[in-house]
Amino acid sequence: MIRSHLMNMENIKKKFDVIVVGAGTGGSTAARFAAQKGLNVCLIDRKERSQVGTKICGDAVGNEIFDILKINHPKDEELSCRIKGAKLYSPNEKKCINLTDPKQAGYIVNRLEFGQRLLDEALDAGVTQFLDNTMALDLLYKNSHVSGIKVRVKNREKFDLWAKVTIDATGYYSPLRKKVKSSIIEKEILKEDSILCYREIVKFSPQDQQLKDPEYITIILDQEKAPGGYIWYFPKNETSINIGLGTFMNYGGKVKELYKKNAFNKFVTTTKFEILSSGGGVAPVRRPLWSCADDGFILIGDAGCQVNPLHGGGIDPSMRAGYMAASTIVNAIEEDDTSLKMLWPYNHDVMTSFGAEFASLDLLRMVLQVLSNQDLNFGLERDLLSGDEILEISSTGSMKLDLMNMAIKAFKGISRPNLLLDLNYLRIKMKEIYSLYKKFPKDIDKFGDWKNKVIEIYDKIKKMIIKTKTDKNFLKSDIHG
Ligand SMILES: Cc1cc2nc3c(=O)[nH]c(=O)nc-3n(C[C@H](O)[C@H](O)[C@H](O)COP(=O)(O)OP(=O)(O)OC[C@H]3O[C@@H](n4cnc5c(N)ncnc54)[C@H](O)[C@@H]3O)c2cc1C
Repeated sequence: MIRSHLMNMENIKKKFDVIVVGAGTGGSTAARFAAQKGLNVCLIDRKERSQVGTKICGDAVGNEIFDILKINHPKDEELSCRIKGAKLYSPNEKKCINLTDPKQAGYIVNRLEFGQRLLDEALDAGVTQFLDNTMALDLLYKNSHVSGIKVRVKNREKFDLWAKVTIDATGYYSPLRKKVKSSIIEKEILKEDSILCYREIVKFSPQDQQLKDPEYITIILDQEKAPGGYIWYFPKNETSINIGLGTFMNYGGKVKELYKKNAFNKFVTTTKFEILSSGGGVAPVRRPLWSCADDGFILIGDAGCQVNPLHGGGIDPSMRAGYMAASTIVNAIEEDDTSLKMLWPYNHDVMTSFGAEFASLDLLRMVLQVLSNQDLNFGLERDLLSGDEILEISSTGSMKLDLMNMAIKAFKGISRPNLLLDLNYLRIKMKEIYSLYKKFPKDIDKFGDWKNKVIEIYDKIKKMIIKTKTDKNFLKSDIHG
């Protein structure tokens, strides 16, 4: 026993160019491209190797990322089914908006098989050392520069691993982000910027229950049944579905009960079913962290809040970020300088690409979360937002719709003039924040000014939201009393 333990310890290498913590979609992609570019990479995960990839998830991922990164699209066991687009329903389900364009098309994956493939490809690309069952406990510092991590391996032994850059890809609950000594990285994600979900994969026989819209993912907005989030129904294959519900993190009750009542009971109509997988999870739904880097340290994926705030999709951005991080690190190591100044181009890449879309969508998310079912029914039924506009918003983060256009639409039967004005104000602020992110400073010295301008926009939207809430309360007391 002691002998094999010593052998194990002796075999473990301890010095690397890069340590990637977490072998999820983000971490495996970062490790793959860093290794492919010739870096000496250590990848670790607290899960056992055979379990890497498992995650409570909707399992939906678009086509685009595979072409961008020039990697294989999901196929065979990885692929549950192909998706043409999404169907978005108003709370009363009278209005269904079809979101179909090539960008919305994609796949429902088998998360474990997909994750195993990404991991295999990272290892094939030349990752020097992969440690499974290994928990990152803390960051190591040398002269205020992150220089590696303290880990606990399978046999509960603790030791230190050293690297020029450490990538945190540990997901929403990142233990490393909470310990980072940084003046520009937020340690905590606010509850109001997070969505708590419960989901199940349910299997049934086609004789007992028919699959609904097998080529589309279905999303139902409902502020009463899924406050702050939505209810989803994603087909997996002829005999199984991935159904779930997301709601505010500080929702008072139990999310599982809400799910059973408003998702499971709605979608599972047969008594002959089998639950293949079930569980809860949390997704960040805000713009990326102020900075996803510091000296010797980079955050990617959920750990860096790189998730689409509108629908919670984070597989694609985590993979993009993994690629971007690897590219920046290669340059920094070539220059023998892994300080924040040399890692800053990674922040620039994130903020000027999907970061700009996510900041804009974050404002939209904040406003949508305070709209009532009545507002949502009204807005969607009157086409205040059409399918094309929603597609444009979700893929570019911007709304072209002008006030006149909206006014014409609203005259179709306006009962909420304030909603119209609020939406127009929101549209202006979304555009503003989008272009601000597109101009994310290349020079760190200009970051402070840029940040203040972003805060200003957020403050204005928060004020508008408070006003909307007050107006509603006023309206309620007016009606009832
Ligand atoms: C309910 C739900 C539904 C979702 N549905 C979708 C969807 O349909 N489509 C989509 O694109 N996105 C979806 N997402 C988001 C998506 O799952 C993530 O954004 C995506 O997996 C990116 O993850 P990541 O690589 O950043 O982290 P993760 O996938 O969470 O991976 C983190 C890895 O780090 C490891 N780890 C954690 N802590 C440590 C530690 N201390 N030491 C070592 N290893 C550690 C974990 O074991 C894990 O392997 C959903 C999220 C939730 C919660």
